[in-house]
Amino acid sequence: MHALGRLPETETIALLAHADGCPGCRAELDGLRAVAGALGHADPARVSPPPAPPPWLRESVLTAVGTRHVHRRRRRLAWAGGLVAAAVAVVTLLSGLSGVFNTDRPTVAYGSGGMRVSAELDVRPWGTAVDLSVSGLTTGQRYLVWLENRDGSRIPAGSFTARGMGLTMELSAAVQDDEAVALGLSTVPGGPAVLRAPISR
Ligand SMILES: [Zn+2]
Repeated sequence: MHALGRLPETETIALLAHADGCPGCRAELDGLRAVAGALGHADPARVSPPPAPPPWLRESVLTAVGTRHVHRRRRRLAWAGGLVAAAVAVVTLLSGLSGVFNTDRPTVAYGSGGMRVSAELDVRPWGTAVDLSVSGLTTGQRYLVWLENRDGSRIPAGSFTARGMGLTMELSAAVQDDEAVALGLSTVPGGPAVLRAPISR
């Protein structure tokens, strides 16, 4: 609600005081601000048919809000409503920009703390295209993206540098998508996975 400019002043002061000492909430707020700014450029007439948010989104948001902090109930509910609305707005905007919301494609969805990663995979003659969306990662940090094969090997899918806002990018990996079982991020080649999320089909 704050990112959309709808939070009352007293709540705003409390929110900013909290965000001041909480990197997770600060990163989330940065991401939501970027989306709120971009929404002004979206043309609802071009979003056809209206995309539906993925089924995991509502539970993911409410779980994160319910377990991360012990806020007073009233405020938690107000934040939850704002987060759900903003998350739905993100999905609507991204779906509208990509033109088609094809639920038949293999997907990846990951959320933990303030970190959100989602991807859609698409088969191409040369391998697999990865439409990747990330937010809440460490600003300025370089991340290596890979698809994990059935045999556990990692096939590189490119790299990116995280920013305070949410990022969307198209990457590619030389692997047939039905051979890949997971998508992962690491900060050094062959290093430990910052995250590893299974691919859903
Ligand atoms: Zn917090």
